[in-house]
Amino acid sequence: MTGGAAWDVVVVGAGVAGLVAARDLVRAGRRVVLVDGRDTPGGAVRGHDVAGLRLDAGAESFATRGGAVAALLAELGLADDVVTPEPLGAWVHLTSGNGPLPRTGLLGVPAHPLAADVRRTLGTPGALRAALDLVLPARVGARATTFGALVRARMGDAVADRLVHPVVGGVHAADPDDLATDTVAPGLAAARAGAGGSLARGVRALRASAPAGSAVQGLRGGIHRLVDALVADVTGHGGVVLTRTRATSLVRDGVFVVRTEPAGAASGAVPPTTAAGELRAPRVLLATPQAPALLAGLGATDLTSVATDDGVPVTLVTLVLDAPVLDAAPRGTGVLVGPGVTDVTAKALTHATAKWGWLGRTAPTGRHVVRLSFGRAPASGAGGADGVPPADALLDVALADAATLLGVPLPADALAGHAVVRWTQSLPRPSAAHRAAVASVRAAVAELPGVAVCGAWAAGTGLASVVPDARAAAATLLDATPDVPDAPDTPVQN
Ligand SMILES: Cc1cc2nc3c(=O)[nH]c(=O)nc-3n(C[C@H](O)[C@H](O)[C@H](O)COP(=O)(O)OP(=O)(O)OC[C@H]3O[C@@H](n4cnc5c(N)ncnc54)[C@H](O)[C@@H]3O)c2cc1C
Repeated sequence: MTGGAAWDVVVVGAGVAGLVAARDLVRAGRRVVLVDGRDTPGGAVRGHDVAGLRLDAGAESFATRGGAVAALLAELGLADDVVTPEPLGAWVHLTSGNGPLPRTGLLGVPAHPLAADVRRTLGTPGALRAALDLVLPARVGARATTFGALVRARMGDAVADRLVHPVVGGVHAADPDDLATDTVAPGLAAARAGAGGSLARGVRALRASAPAGSAVQGLRGGIHRLVDALVADVTGHGGVVLTRTRATSLVRDGVFVVRTEPAGAASGAVPPTTAAGELRAPRVLLATPQAPALLAGLGATDLTSVATDDGVPVTLVTLVLDAPVLDAAPRGTGVLVGPGVTDVTAKALTHATAKWGWLGRTAPTGRHVVRLSFGRAPASGAGGADGVPPADALLDVALADAATLLGVPLPADALAGHAVVRWTQSLPRPSAAHRAAVASVRAAVAELPGVAVCGAWAAGTGLASVVPDARAAAATLLDATPDVPDAPDTPVQN
């Protein structure tokens, strides 16, 4: 508690980053208010209801690397609900047809280049070229500045184009030829160095050092349950979450002042939690991609010209289908789409009821959940410039793409329900320019006592990056002795 201020910390953004940081702050006794412009907290990890099923609207899993997400889930009492995807494998849809993705690998890089699934997708010449990696000298690829260039140098174009491009495109909505290896595959460079430069052996070493089991896990009932648990813990410790409240500016007036405006239309079904006006506190935590613009308002440094990457907007179409033909999971857990493909517009499909056993058992017999993502313009196809079909055609395209990718007929009357969610600013591409922009924001924040930033826009996409970064940000505020004086008694307007 700090003097007479109404709050100790204002948190902007109640996605997982803001909620995780807020949880650590309230549990340390700080009075915390979070604001979020949407009508529900959770950001990209929120849930939604489709055809009577409670489903993830965005993220559906977490990477196990680092162990931070599993540790958080354990703290929240959710450890027993952590689940592993069904071991059905995934597929890639290429101009040359469908093939399995390597069962052992990293971001499409095969750990065993001559394995049967790799030979099937690459063909024998492509697999033999990939296996050359095992004997090439360490200097090959040493100067590669991107992940794509490294893969091409060590394993050839077939691995880069048919395996790595679809997987990295699916995870990061970006081209591996634009991304630094350290950014997309932390630890791979060191693992490779210890393996004589071999990419395949480096991947094996990384996989061996990871926690046993799957590289990704989920939560029984959906990963959005993490948000429910975080909100319950934050509010249970006296924190306040104000939804439909957008932060518009940040200034310093003795303490930090976050100006807000109501966002979105009020609905009778939602409690009136909007706040208009100002929130004042001696500390502020910005868990939003709009942090650089908000920080510029402090005048401490000129961040107005800093541009972090917003990422490619992604449109996620969820189809709930009465289609017993899918009981056999014809494409395992899902399909990623390779470059140059023209017979579908979607860039990826997840067969959610096949991937997650709990969901398959929850859905009525013969009913299936399929998620398709659109958003990276393929060479051609029905998408517009952003790779997303127009709204009035989207559902038809999604159904047709699902049938093509899954290799089964899916008539329109199989559709029991659907949802369309458009994600913007949610998947920043970790290019060199983006990382430089983030570094300059972090440098500016280091000069601003009482201010912290976190979130995927700074830490990188994915809960495995976001969670430890948010906890580190909260720790800096717990340590910080701000150089701003305490506020006089200031009523909070909410
Ligand atoms: C479709 C999709 C699928 C994904 N799948 C996975 C997955 O399977 N596994 C995985 O690990 N990761 C996945 N991710 C990525 C992961 O969800 C994100 O990296 C992570 O949730 C980001 O959390 P965040 O809190 O940083 O940002 P966000 O979740 O974007 O939250 C930011 C919040 O801030 C609010 N906000 C922004 N500006 C303001 C403002 N000015 N005032 C008030 N509020 C504001 C927003 O409304 C939002 O709620 C996925 C992302 C998407 C979009």
